[in-house]
Amino acid sequence: MKRTDHNGTLRAADAGREVTLVGWCQKRRNLGSIVFIDLRDRSGIVQVVFDETMAEKVKDVRSEYILQVSGVVQLRKDANPKMDTGEIEVLAKEVRIVNSAETAPITIADNTDTSEDVRLKYRYLDLRRKPLQDNMILRHKICMTARKVLDEKGFIEVETPILARSTPEGARDYLVPSRIYNGRFWALPQSPQIYKQLLMIAGMERYFQIARCFRDEDLRADRQPEFTQIDIEMSFVEEDDVFEVVEDLMRAIFKETKNIELDEKFVRMPWEECMKKYGTDKPDLRFGNEIHNLNELFKDTSFQVFRSVIDNGGEVDAIAFDGIADRYSRKSIDKLQDFLKAGFKAKALAWLKMENGTLSGSIAKPLSEEEKAKVAEELGMKDNSIAFFIADSAKIARSALGALRVKLAHENDLIDRSLYKFLWVTDFPMFEYSEEENRWVAAHHPFTAPKEEDRDKLFNDQEHCSSRAYDLVLNGYELLSGSIRIHDQELQEQVFEAIGLTMEQAREKFGFFLEAFRYGTPPHGGVGIGLERLTMVLADTENIRDVVAFPTTNSSLDLMSEAPNTVDDSQLAVLGIKTDIKAPKAE
Ligand code: ASP
Repeated sequence: MKRTDHNGTLRAADAGREVTLVGWCQKRRNLGSIVFIDLRDRSGIVQVVFDETMAEKVKDVRSEYILQVSGVVQLRKDANPKMDTGEIEVLAKEVRIVNSAETAPITIADNTDTSEDVRLKYRYLDLRRKPLQDNMILRHKICMTARKVLDEKGFIEVETPILARSTPEGARDYLVPSRIYNGRFWALPQSPQIYKQLLMIAGMERYFQIARCFRDEDLRADRQPEFTQIDIEMSFVEEDDVFEVVEDLMRAIFKETKNIELDEKFVRMPWEECMKKYGTDKPDLRFGNEIHNLNELFKDTSFQVFRSVIDNGGEVDAIAFDGIADRYSRKSIDKLQDFLKAGFKAKALAWLKMENGTLSGSIAKPLSEEEKAKVAEELGMKDNSIAFFIADSAKIARSALGALRVKLAHENDLIDRSLYKFLWVTDFPMFEYSEEENRWVAAHHPFTAPKEEDRDKLFNDQEHCSSRAYDLVLNGYELLSGSIRIHDQELQEQVFEAIGLTMEQAREKFGFFLEAFRYGTPPHGGVGIGLERLTMVLADTENIRDVVAFPTTNSSLDLMSEAPNTVDDSQLAVLGIKTDIKAPKAE
């Protein structure tokens, strides 16, 4: 189909040129005998003018009709500064109506007021909207940049199976029944973890894949049952080598997609320190307001509430904010306390305000003047500063203050949104205790190497056993996880044992993998970068569905195709499956 230009690219310099354009009718306006049509294609919108001689030909054209127009570009009398093409318009000489369209069930405009459910049902129309098109293009650019950079660095892209054997990443598997071997099941990969490690054993040295991962998890707002990782694995490496590749990759992606120059080196922080300072392993470093531990300051206090918590092995932690004390009344502080009680099990929230050089607040009375002076100094309080205190177990005090830190920063607009603050969190714990299963489980995955000096803690001090796992955090989001892996069969067997797998169970689940270790396994490590997360940050959206072409709802339904759907009994029969469950119709 003939087309000389893309609509959104025409500028004043094109005035006088004859062009042929195609696209959808965004809007039609009649002005006396003249008709204006905004013609949209992927590149943008241009105004086309149909004078008296042409108007008749487009009298039936409505929104979303497809047209092919030939005409001459001319300067507009009144430029429209809101449009990229606002200085020009195209005077139509010929027009062909290529296709008609029914009235769209959603508003196809940058800002649509149509509900998200309806937009998901008509996703192909929603995707015509510029913000979503821009997101798809952004995602594409990220992938293209990743392919280019990784190729230049000697990585090769290898596809690993989708019909696979279960890979443990801590979620539930999606299972696919085998027709040929009734009673057996494939698992869709939670990540290509085992395969990529096998590729290292296979001598590939540097692998990557833009890999689809599947995790059957409970409903969560920011999750999709399937998602994509830029998955990377390298042989003969230590943490520094992996970090260098990832930092170079991030620098290239930010430059290519947003023209942003990132810092030369990303900040690193061990997990323990991160939890102490920010109460979370994914802190937003675009603002300060670190948590301070005040156990030393209050170890001999006569204020019994603090004293007994410290004596019983807990913590008194505090966080301070400058310049906002006057915004918080007793009532609004009560609300903050309710929020921390409900979400973080904090028993109470104490506070002090600095006003005209004196401290007032819920603990102003029980603390001595000397204690208050020390607190103010430790927290760097100035006039109009407010400090919040939690005395509780370390876990509760830190996580509650960590949440408060983020909440107050958002509420008070303390975040500079132009910043991109990366942080490597290193030395994650090797294990975490699962209350549900009553045992220690792998905190990252069971192929992660323990820190060399903590190997002897594998069996007798799991709580304090650190690993060589790391995350890269950006502005409060976890962008990727990874680790240096175990490459020694004996150690791998020990780790399986430490998480409660008997040797038989380990052999049954991972026998092929353990066997592979026997034939010369290089030291290796890598990462899985969450592509949706990265795209969300760059697109400045908090809705994961904005960066996925065909997403499911929060309750894992595809409203467009109505998947998952029921199947015929005959389809089940060949799979050797019988079910008495009658699926309710999806809402
Ligand atoms: N497979 C890991 C994950 O999905 C990433 C990695 O360790 O490379 O989180």
